[in-house]
Amino acid sequence: MATGLFDLEGKIVLVTGGGRGLGFGMAKVIADAGATVVLANRSQDQLKAATTEVRELGGRAHAIATDLTQPGAAHGLVEDVVREHGRIDGLLHAAGNQHRSPFLDFPGEAFDDVVRLHLHTAFDLAQATAQHLVSQGEGGSIIFIGSLTSEAAGIRNITAYSAAKSGLLGLMRTLANELAPHGIRVNTIAPGFFATEMTADVSSDPYRQGLYDRIPAGRMGTPEDLGGAAAFFLSDASGYVTAQCLTVDGGWAVA
Ligand code: NAD
Repeated sequence: MATGLFDLEGKIVLVTGGGRGLGFGMAKVIADAGATVVLANRSQDQLKAATTEVRELGGRAHAIATDLTQPGAAHGLVEDVVREHGRIDGLLHAAGNQHRSPFLDFPGEAFDDVVRLHLHTAFDLAQATAQHLVSQGEGGSIIFIGSLTSEAAGIRNITAYSAAKSGLLGLMRTLANELAPHGIRVNTIAPGFFATEMTADVSSDPYRQGLYDRIPAGRMGTPEDLGGAAAFFLSDASGYVTAQCLTVDGGWAVA
């Protein structure tokens, strides 16, 4: 049981993409620190398995199935959380998609699909969450999930993803500035390379393998490797930290 600065007891945290992969890995750590996690993604089956696992570990988890690319879905999701739990304290937007193709052939529709879920949905979720946090009057924490492409890396074949992940930092900075007077902090976690379903299709790609071989820590990350960063940004331990992007990459960016 966590105590003191890192304690998340009593907090209601919405985790999009919480049914699997990095979102689920972070949700387990947050729940272990005391938060009630509301896991949201598209698949009811994944959500059932994920909530069961969190509960078996002694945590509190609820699930909401939703397709966040649908108009109004992000605002509707936050409303559902508040209706069910009476409040919201934190948002962790880890839902994501990917389209890979060379820039010269990259379809405009795929660009829109990827930017919509990573960036526009982040705007919608953050706005809906912040509206409740302001009226609750007790502050709160909003966390975006960036990537190595948010700042320095220009990894090939993921034009839309890089644009969206860089855009998140601009969104974060402006929201952090506007929301700080309300005690609401806005930060980003930028994961390095993690083996999840999102990266499974390129696991044998020699170009990607070359990138993975450079990780100074000598291994790819596991979803739980991100949990400490998420718990930090949600807790009082980061009470004076806002508009920051924390890279969790085993040292890749300096390799
Ligand atoms: P993943 O594919 O395993 O999980 C993505 C999650 O998003 C799933 O739960 C899925 O159901 C949900 N999702 C997708 N489309 C949705 C929609 N329309 N509505 C609601 N939910 C939807 O991927 P992951 O690797 O766990 O990625 C999670 C986040 O981490 C993403 O933002 C991703 O860009 C980021 N990230 C991943 C890596 C990596 O190496 N895996 C690295 C950097 C950043």
